[in-house]
Amino acid sequence: MVPKKKILDILGAYDLKNLTIATVCSHSSLQIFHGARKEGFKTLGIAIGREPKFYGAFPLAKPDKFMVLNSYQEIPDIVEKLKEENAVIIPHGSFVEYLGHKKFEELEIPTFGNRAVLEWESDREKSRQWLESAGIEMPMKFDDPRKIDRPVLVKFYGAKGGKGFFIAKNYEEFMAVNPQERYTIQEYVIGTRYYIHYFYSPIKEEGYKLSKGTLELLGMDRRDEANIDEVYKVGSIERLRELGWRQTFVVTGNVEVVMRESLLPKVLEMGEKVVERSFQLFGGMIGPFCLETIVTDELKIKVFEISARIVAGTNVAVGGSPYSELVEPGMSTGRRIAREIKIAAEKHRLEEIIS
Ligand code: ATP
Repeated sequence: MVPKKKILDILGAYDLKNLTIATVCSHSSLQIFHGARKEGFKTLGIAIGREPKFYGAFPLAKPDKFMVLNSYQEIPDIVEKLKEENAVIIPHGSFVEYLGHKKFEELEIPTFGNRAVLEWESDREKSRQWLESAGIEMPMKFDDPRKIDRPVLVKFYGAKGGKGFFIAKNYEEFMAVNPQERYTIQEYVIGTRYYIHYFYSPIKEEGYKLSKGTLELLGMDRRDEANIDEVYKVGSIERLRELGWRQTFVVTGNVEVVMRESLLPKVLEMGEKVVERSFQLFGGMIGPFCLETIVTDELKIKVFEISARIVAGTNVAVGGSPYSELVEPGMSTGRRIAREIKIAAEKHRLEEIIS
């Protein structure tokens, strides 16, 4: 990982009144650029292949400038140019996944958030260690497929959006697929999914207080996952199989949701525990994160994954959500990131939110 000292030296040479918010043109970039502009920043889009035409359709979210590369792998080559722009990088899922974790960790450019979180978040075993040691309830894990005694979901590694995942209820069904890739076996939790968008600020003092800073609940979404979410149209999973299809969990979009209000105290406590534990484990997770949950009919909230940066599901709330509306009207996660950078720059506290 690039030493913090190096990043602070780069920041030291920046004109803090003239920062540029930069990210890769994909995932949640419209929201990030839109939010950054609202907070008065210049914006820069890193485009792969060619300057994307589709921003023309969204003038309020079009970056001021583009840098066009042939591939994500060329991002480390433009670090000097980015520095000339006083750029702060906002990482999102596609950015980190396509550049590669290791290369992202080594990028010598100020980046929003704590990059040390990657090691804990990207590995399913380590993220389980983090969440469970924080007191978060997760779906049970089976280390040995022979021990499968209930419906399970067999998941593969890497953010593939659920492609290839399969459900089995015993060893025979598991062996019928006999996966050759690295996998993990999780109890299949029956319930309704909520992808909860939080924002942790070490700087803001008023609000839902943590041992240091405050936690915000900015929204919730549910993913639309083809073809599993539409399986009812053909009748059932059995019918899907009869027709020669296998269920997939490929994310095609998102919808905004709210949870019953009585669950919100628990939701905030969960976010609080995860952040507090992150301080002990790796110096803290800063900014936006998402707990991916399933709420059962006993109103238990089980977390099956954490994403430690802006998730694409926040795109449902570009103009604010039913929760962020109660924090500050019109506040998206993208805008909240920009606001945090703005306040930190004004207070000379950028080193607390950048790595
Ligand atoms: P991404 O990185 O894009 O979040 P992923 O490949 O890590 O995707 P998961 O998010 O873990 O995959 O799971 C994909 C989908 O599978 C979830 O959105 C959810 O619909 C379903 N799912 C995951 N875990 C469980 C579980 N334990 N029980 C029931 N359904 C689950």
